[in-house]
Amino acid sequence: MSTKKINPFEEMLKVLKRTADLLKLDSGTYEILSHPKEVLTVSLPVKMDNGSIKVFQGYRVHYNDARGPTKGGIRYHPNVNLDEVKALAAWMTWKTAVVNIPYGGAKGGITCNPKEMSERELEMLTRKYASAIAKFVGVDLDIPAPDVNTNPQTMAWFFDEYVKIKGEVLPGVITAKPLSIGGSQGRSYATGRGVFFTGLEALKTKNINVKGAKVSIQGYGNAGYYSAKFFHEAGAKIIAVSDSKGGAYSPDGMDPDKLLEFKKKTKTVKGFPGSDETDTRAPLFTECDIVIPAALEDQITSENVDKVKAKIVLEAANGPTTTEATQSLFERDILVVPDILANAGGVTVSYFEWVQNRQGYYWTEEEVDEKLRKIMTQAFRDVYQTSQEYKVDMRTGAYLVAVKRVVEAMKARGWI
Ligand code: NAD
Repeated sequence: MSTKKINPFEEMLKVLKRTADLLKLDSGTYEILSHPKEVLTVSLPVKMDNGSIKVFQGYRVHYNDARGPTKGGIRYHPNVNLDEVKALAAWMTWKTAVVNIPYGGAKGGITCNPKEMSERELEMLTRKYASAIAKFVGVDLDIPAPDVNTNPQTMAWFFDEYVKIKGEVLPGVITAKPLSIGGSQGRSYATGRGVFFTGLEALKTKNINVKGAKVSIQGYGNAGYYSAKFFHEAGAKIIAVSDSKGGAYSPDGMDPDKLLEFKKKTKTVKGFPGSDETDTRAPLFTECDIVIPAALEDQITSENVDKVKAKIVLEAANGPTTTEATQSLFERDILVVPDILANAGGVTVSYFEWVQNRQGYYWTEEEVDEKLRKIMTQAFRDVYQTSQEYKVDMRTGAYLVAVKRVVEAMKARGWI
């Protein structure tokens, strides 16, 4: 059961409706776009460590496959429910279209609390899920990946179970696998790398040099740390960071690796030597060139948006800025680089992994990086140009680009 009052699928539909109106789509086309293509719900009985049997609910949604096989992560969380999975699957449809990779959108999830489960229980649950949805995934059908609380190990268990069922070693069925079983170079930090590439383009639109640019980050996990690392390497100053326990502020800038080392020891960035202690939200309201929300959804809202003092909001997290807050930032000429563009580096390198798996020939880290840079830069330019053309914010611009591409494919295939 979701504890959020907001229905994420209804929220997605609001933005989709606005986009459909701007594109003057007919009602039939909108109807197709506002429904998932297919939904699978499965019950997963698992023998727990104490000998009891517990039945978990699992889901997999294929939202739209007009542009190619569907792609999307698997989430393990107590709040997973069908409306959330449907919304996330729709977002994947728009995300893969924004970066123009040949996929549709999907998502999966299991309602469970992985923090209360042992490694063996998680492995059993993953294997049950893989066998329950095996008929619904495939190299040319639907390709899962990690999401909240799942990781390369989860992908490896899923892959192993799928191989047993199929009797064939098909590494392209799932991405973000460990390197030893067909993972790609650069996958572990791909989201932060993509955030950095789109951030560089955003800085150009504001005539700000990355050298000396002030960057502030909420959330210091995978997305936050790697974003910090790449901006720091390019000469930017990381002046504020935070995690779930608190934050650190230093106007002279902080070293991302030292911050990570400190966080590993103390479990938080708060108290980092030479910095001032702040609260978890402080980085969002720090005066800077770029603020990167990299933690949770619904962080910049109509209640606090007036406190944002950055020139650019670069959304590493999914859904950190509400629709109303996006509009208010747009009116103040603060550039919001939306999640479906800024954090698409992960799915893009997942696509590279799938391509490498299919050809059985693997690229160097430099090759992956160059290809990622090209895709992210082009995607930023497509969205920026469209938003200028329609005189709308970049979130609406991203939806316009994505929905146009999906509709074009639907037309080509004779669906509309
Ligand atoms: P993570 O678990 O590695 O890190 C999350 C970080 O946020 C942690 O440092 C945590 O302490 C911090 N945090 C939690 N609550 C907070 C709060 N109230 N205030 C400040 N910080 C808080 O997660 P991640 O993979 O880095 O994902 C972060 C966001 O980026 C999520 O919205 C996720 O959906 C999105 N994202 C991640 C990827 C990826 O590849 N990792 C890809 C696309 C989108």
